[in-house]
Amino acid sequence: MPFTPLHYPVGYGLSKVDRRLSFPGLIVGSVIPDVEVLVLRFFFPNLLDHLVLHSLVGGLTLGTLIAVFVTRFLYPPIILGLFGVNRKLLDDACKITPSLVLSCIMGAFFHILVDISMHWYNPVFWPWVNPLDIVGPLVLLFAFEGDIQLGFLRANVFLNVIMVILWLIILIRNRGENLWERIWLGERPPSSG
Ligand SMILES: [Zn+2]
Repeated sequence: MPFTPLHYPVGYGLSKVDRRLSFPGLIVGSVIPDVEVLVLRFFFPNLLDHLVLHSLVGGLTLGTLIAVFVTRFLYPPIILGLFGVNRKLLDDACKITPSLVLSCIMGAFFHILVDISMHWYNPVFWPWVNPLDIVGPLVLLFAFEGDIQLGFLRANVFLNVIMVILWLIILIRNRGENLWERIWLGERPPSSG
């Protein structure tokens, strides 16, 4: 992690790179690797709780597949139920297209990148490189006394604070009418009115 929903600003930021990208795809992709954490903790308590979906090989294949499924079939009813966003816009935005698939891949990729920075172990090159051999740069930076676990804790807090600030900026930027539409479907291109 950071705390999973705090990955949202990364997906939001990616949507600014190219308007043709799918906003829901980026958002779902950017949180999807963390679905493995609970599964691994519950069913495979002897394994690391970040593993397959936090590796490039697993995240960009299985992770993308799960993200596409979730964007198409779970995102619309959840966002509609919780935020009452326009159903037609939601359905249109969540149709499976090459752009949506690419957006899911990008979201998952950047989730893995962000996690690498602040984790004390990283399965990015699993199963070829031992996750315990890759310590996040922020962890090393914050491990003043050489205590990796303390460095991890500080890096975690540091990155989560940044993400909360970014969330607030995004909410303030989009405040007003249709806030939730912009938060969950992105800003519509000017041409579409
Ligand atoms: Zn994660």
